[in-house]
Amino acid sequence: MANFNTHLSIAAAASTGAALICVNVHLIAITDMPWLVFLGTVGGMLPDIDANNSRPVKLLFNVLALMGVATALQVFEGTYSSYRLLSIAAVTYLVIRYGVFSLFNNLTVHRGVFHSVMAAVFFALLIICVSYHFVHWDVLHAWLNGLFIALGFIVHLFLDEFCSVNLSNVRVKKSFGTAMKLFSYNNMTASVLLTICTLALYWIAPSPIPLVNVWEASDWDDYLTPVRFLQQ
Ligand SMILES: [Zn+2]
Repeated sequence: MANFNTHLSIAAAASTGAALICVNVHLIAITDMPWLVFLGTVGGMLPDIDANNSRPVKLLFNVLALMGVATALQVFEGTYSSYRLLSIAAVTYLVIRYGVFSLFNNLTVHRGVFHSVMAAVFFALLIICVSYHFVHWDVLHAWLNGLFIALGFIVHLFLDEFCSVNLSNVRVKKSFGTAMKLFSYNNMTASVLLTICTLALYWIAPSPIPLVNVWEASDWDDYLTPVRFLQQ
């Protein structure tokens, strides 16, 4: 299993490369790049959210807790005195950061259902639906958001699988085959649940046709020009 920093840098490098290609073929503007690279890097952290006490999961629950506090303050603002509001904010933070977090830890096993290709598709579709329906991004950018999350995710799975093979003496570690899998075969209930959620998200997601059209109209010649130049 690759460590946190390796995952971080490889995911960032892969998404930078992919974003550069997108800019090169005029699929996106250069100003879109930092956001997509950020999403690709986040995608590269996601598969390990089921590793108890890993850095990504702690960070994720800190962010979720702060989002919960912001929502609670918005809902109860004007209803309670500032002293009570402060108590509500503190309780909300503690419940999400420690209560929901320990529940999540008890329900998930590392390299379980979240460490699979199906989870990559699930998270990609989730971000597509949120970007399109809640943040009201256009179809092209909503789908690119999802695709970059999936890219980082898949790179993470490949990297873990690659690290389970000891290249110097070609000894295959015990963990081989646990990183890159379509589903979690040990927990079929969770796998079926995740598949149902993924199908539901696909149903809710906007059609990718506009992305496909832009993709086909993109100037791939621009991207291929340096290659052709080298071939001559
Ligand atoms: Zn991993």
